[in-house]
Amino acid sequence: MSLPSTARVVIIGGGVVGVSTLYHLARAGWTDCVLLEKNELTAGSTWHAAGNCPSFSASWSVMNMQRYGLEMYRTLAEATDYPINYNVTGSVRLAHSDNRMKEFEKVAGMGRYQGIEMKVCSPEELQHYHPFMETHDLAGGLWDPVDGDIDPSQLTQAMAKGARDLGCHIERFCPATGVSRANGEWVVHTDKGDLRCEYVVNAAGYYAQKVSEWFVPHGGRVAPAATMAHQYFLTEEIPELKAWTQEKGHKLPILRDVDSSYYLRQDTFSLNLGPYERTCKSHWNTPDDPFPEDFSFQLYPDDFDRIEWHIEDAMARVPILGSQGVQRNINGPIPYAPDGNPMLGPMPGVPNAFEAHSFTFGIAQGGGAGKVAAEWIIHGMTEWDMWSCDPRRFTDYTDPQYCIDKAMEIYGNEYAMHFPHHAWPAARNRKLSPVHDKVVGLGGQMGAYNGWERANWFAKAGDDTSEDATQTWNRSGPWEIRIKEECEAVRDGVGVLDLPGFSRFALSGEGAAEWLRGRIAGSLCKVGRMTLAYFPDRRGRILTEMSILRHGEDDFTLITAAAAQWHDYELLKKDLPEGLALVDRTRELSTLIVTGPGSRDLFTAIAEADLQAGWLSHQQAKVAGKPAMLVRVSFAGELGWEVHASFEDMPTIYDAVLAGGAKPFGMYALNSLRMEKGYRTWKGDLSTDYTLLEAGLDRFVKLDKTQDFPGKTALAEERRQGVRKRFVQMIVDAGESDAPYMSTVWHGDTVVGETTSGDWGHRVGASIAFGTVRADLAEPGTELEIEIFGQRCKAVVQPDHPLWDPANTRLRA
Ligand SMILES: Cc1cc2nc3c(=O)[nH]c(=O)nc-3n(C[C@H](O)[C@H](O)[C@H](O)COP(=O)(O)OP(=O)(O)OC[C@H]3O[C@@H](n4cnc5c(N)ncnc54)[C@H](O)[C@@H]3O)c2cc1C
Repeated sequence: MSLPSTARVVIIGGGVVGVSTLYHLARAGWTDCVLLEKNELTAGSTWHAAGNCPSFSASWSVMNMQRYGLEMYRTLAEATDYPINYNVTGSVRLAHSDNRMKEFEKVAGMGRYQGIEMKVCSPEELQHYHPFMETHDLAGGLWDPVDGDIDPSQLTQAMAKGARDLGCHIERFCPATGVSRANGEWVVHTDKGDLRCEYVVNAAGYYAQKVSEWFVPHGGRVAPAATMAHQYFLTEEIPELKAWTQEKGHKLPILRDVDSSYYLRQDTFSLNLGPYERTCKSHWNTPDDPFPEDFSFQLYPDDFDRIEWHIEDAMARVPILGSQGVQRNINGPIPYAPDGNPMLGPMPGVPNAFEAHSFTFGIAQGGGAGKVAAEWIIHGMTEWDMWSCDPRRFTDYTDPQYCIDKAMEIYGNEYAMHFPHHAWPAARNRKLSPVHDKVVGLGGQMGAYNGWERANWFAKAGDDTSEDATQTWNRSGPWEIRIKEECEAVRDGVGVLDLPGFSRFALSGEGAAEWLRGRIAGSLCKVGRMTLAYFPDRRGRILTEMSILRHGEDDFTLITAAAAQWHDYELLKKDLPEGLALVDRTRELSTLIVTGPGSRDLFTAIAEADLQAGWLSHQQAKVAGKPAMLVRVSFAGELGWEVHASFEDMPTIYDAVLAGGAKPFGMYALNSLRMEKGYRTWKGDLSTDYTLLEAGLDRFVKLDKTQDFPGKTALAEERRQGVRKRFVQMIVDAGESDAPYMSTVWHGDTVVGETTSGDWGHRVGASIAFGTVRADLAEPGTELEIEIFGQRCKAVVQPDHPLWDPANTRLRA
């Protein structure tokens, strides 16, 4: 059959991810879809992958994808009538430290919540699973019963057959050569002819960055990614392993020594060792190593020197590894996005275009990725919140060197633990506040927020600010006393937080107010006031939260999280009627939070402003003689104002605020302060995993307003039936750690929910957790338990008002 000239969807790239996307579209009834592959299917990274399929992930959404994929792979051969070698061997992950054991406890809890019976084990139990392993130096490990390995080519071919059988078309040896737009449709160019389509998907693996360049004239950007070389080798057959396998009738589980950073898997009767080495190598980004026109079915030269340490370490762990020579080495390319998660979702800035590339574990994630990509295309939304993989999470700061530096950092730390007070050091200082040097000079320990550098906490002379000190899950550390002092300064005096990078959009034009009313669930504020507004999707789930400041009848500033910049801009831009102007002003203005009972006195001395203007008001004023917008609001929950001013004027204002007696505080203190007020954060507590009503945002849902808005019907129905689960604040008898994201919440022997935030409240003197639990358990006073790193800690549901200053008298003072 020749290449069709039209299709509903064209997918560029026939690796496991592109083919899975096609298969899932087909299964959803979208069979008028074409996949273009420049060579043979699997020619990119897929053909040479080791095929390991872990379910383990520290990310809830990635774990969801992997769990779904592994379940699907079990029945895929039968469903598509195509044979697949899929061995579910289980795996053992080794812990060299108590910190690693805590990580395993945490992930095991998440796994059990998803129905995967992971088990934290002693060294003896590990040896039971893997008798060839030395365990004397281990703290323990994790047993994952659903880990295994699959033949990547068979997996891809099975899904390809499934898609073809349902009516989709796959054109091999047909590179896409470019794209253009005609009459609101995409035209994908190939040497075999042009294809018109509604939607296009970039699933081109390590070529995806090249393909993304075609979309730049259509509003796109060059996708942030860098190519890393990853290798594994296979030994010759090992007689002891053969004898053991034949006696037991099954293979060894996969061994992942995550602290030494490698996996070791049985392949028939040999072993396969795959390290992620610190001394890693990025390719195709220098003049003497240019990006190849074609690398189909090719490999890099062997490079054993790079992995020598890991080979020795693995031989000490599993001595039979050293008993035989190397049979074959595979050194191939993997594309890495700057945080190591895939790019999966809407292509930023480009209509009807999607991305599904930069997978570092594409075999394990391919099944789930196809489901997610198909949902984005068909429904414009996904079942699970997929922000961790959304291409819009990176904005305008990801230059090539940034991508290389981050890819090197991530690859070399592939199995690293992500501690709550640790900031990854590579590729920093991309976007600086106008007072950055002053903040650093005051002891600011910086973290990157959508590329913007902000102080997490302020160290004093003698404090240990080393990276080593942050390698802990515990609340305690050099920062703890400083955070307490910062919170107390905000409580008792006045604090200042330099907060560059708030995403900020100006919306104006006749009808802007009415249009906004049709997007948000609640009401609009009056002119001169501000309100919090929630944008639901069709199912009533939370797409985003914005602060809306109203300057005139149809004149607004919308302020939202730094990370939300592209996501929220696109949300607003999507259906924006002609005649309304939307301008991104993020780079024009910066923000200070100045808050605490002393803040009015401070501004009295340095500002020309109406300081009696009420809570949620805003005004143009002068601070230190410079024009500034003062907004009477405080995310810290004390009397206070946000100061919004130009980059040029901010240093003068910051100096005046400091000279007025404000003490600098950081993001860690802000997190503690906001939790005491019950304030939620975007993509932590507020995401598409929850509806507005589940999130307890009932007061921001006005079902009786005349305007329709997305999700109105769904929310009305949910209100009629009652929510199944509900947001709660809990006080926790936590030990040395507060509840991390996605800790399970128990009632007796049943898991009844999960946490979304946890921190110590210094004003209330207690550990606080936010979470969502079964609705009948959301009553204040209900006693629950939160599993924090394997320990069940008593947690009591609190009344639905702020834990600190419940009546908001301090805020409104
Ligand atoms: C040595 C090694 C071992 C690995 N082991 C594992 C593992 O054990 N488990 C795991 O989960 N992952 C593993 N991976 C990673 C895994 O291989 C990738 O994540 C996965 O194959 C990515 O699939 P993909 O479909 O995104 O990309 P690819 O497989 O690279 O597919 C992209 C396809 O797009 C095609 N293409 C590119 N440009 C065009 C164009 N212009 N027109 C048409 N077609 C185009 C390419 O030819 C290619 O076939 C390993 C990787 C390496 C290098």
